[in-house]
Amino acid sequence: MKIICIGKNYIEHNKEMQSENPKNPVFFLKTDNCILRQNKPFYLPSFSSCIHHEVEIVVRICRVGKHIDTEFANKYYEEIGIGLDLTARDLQNEAKKQGLPWEISKAFDFSAPLSDDFIPKANLDLGNLSFSLRKNGEIVQKGNTKDMIFNIDSIIAYVSRFMTLKIGDLIFTGTPSGVGPLAIGDELEAYIGNKSLLKMKVK
Ligand code: MG
Repeated sequence: MKIICIGKNYIEHNKEMQSENPKNPVFFLKTDNCILRQNKPFYLPSFSSCIHHEVEIVVRICRVGKHIDTEFANKYYEEIGIGLDLTARDLQNEAKKQGLPWEISKAFDFSAPLSDDFIPKANLDLGNLSFSLRKNGEIVQKGNTKDMIFNIDSIIAYVSRFMTLKIGDLIFTGTPSGVGPLAIGDELEAYIGNKSLLKMKVK
């Protein structure tokens, strides 16, 4: 199982990162050791002094596919969840500067907290789906899938040109603006619409 993460998919987030809007989806991978579920706490790792939260809509792949056409991409997923693409921003900035890969900043253990529940897509308007993240009760990130540069179907079509998608693979679809650092004691809660799907304490 692999976790495909889309970067730079929301214009407002690209502005806050002083990053350009990409011409094609940008993606990188996390591994299954990144997953943190059952609302378990996240322990700040010693190798970074700046772990950022990035709340993202997550798609679970339900069919094997390669070279999937955009128009058929919706047959490859049935359920939508929410997750956090935790990022060691200090290490990522250093890697970017040096032109090095991002794994140490993105694919460390438990860097992908994920909702236990996924919602059937039939119950959602995927073109206009709001989601948000609260930190200590305050909304810090607010997004809507209508603001994605590349929608879910075009992401699936693009990624499947390069790698076969398999059952159980997850796609983190990019974060809206409002990313920021975690501190010990923080309590995070992620929502799709008004439904709370993921809680996480930082220790
Ligand atoms: Mg992200």
